[in-house]
Amino acid sequence: MASRELLRIDPDKRSIIERHLSQVPVRLGELARELGVSAIKVSSMRTGVSGQVAREGDEYIIRVNRNEARERQRFTIAHELAHYLLHRNLIDTSSEGITDTVLYRSGAPEQVEFEANRLAADIVMPSALVDDMLKSEYQGIVTEATIENLAARFGVSKAAMELRLERMARA
Ligand SMILES: [Zn+2]
Repeated sequence: MASRELLRIDPDKRSIIERHLSQVPVRLGELARELGVSAIKVSSMRTGVSGQVAREGDEYIIRVNRNEARERQRFTIAHELAHYLLHRNLIDTSSEGITDTVLYRSGAPEQVEFEANRLAADIVMPSALVDDMLKSEYQGIVTEATIENLAARFGVSKAAMELRLERMARA
């Protein structure tokens, strides 16, 4: 059930990711560090911007907007981490790296943003874990309360979890 983006990542990095996908909520800070990101900074960013991943010298830095909700920041960190894994060339060729608006648009082709969103969902809401929990604790029945509880446990917004469950149901 992993996205094709996850399968595209080289095996060494993928095994680091997979090791982290067995604990809820996924520890994004640790994961990013192990993958080579130097720092995640909760920063003052201009209104309408959610996050950025940029290269500074030899280091890669992820920034998230301090004014956004914690759940939102988690998804943004995962989205920027996905860009770091999948779209390094785009980051390296711009002094601003990749800067995402609240709609996760960065000026990069739409496909690039779709890829980052799919991999981000894999990282913050690993489908195997969501599926296990849904079956073992909620008898596989999706209600408003189920969505709310799962969202809280994975540290994501209700909207993000709802979308995840819909996609899983269709897969
Ligand atoms: Zn993006």
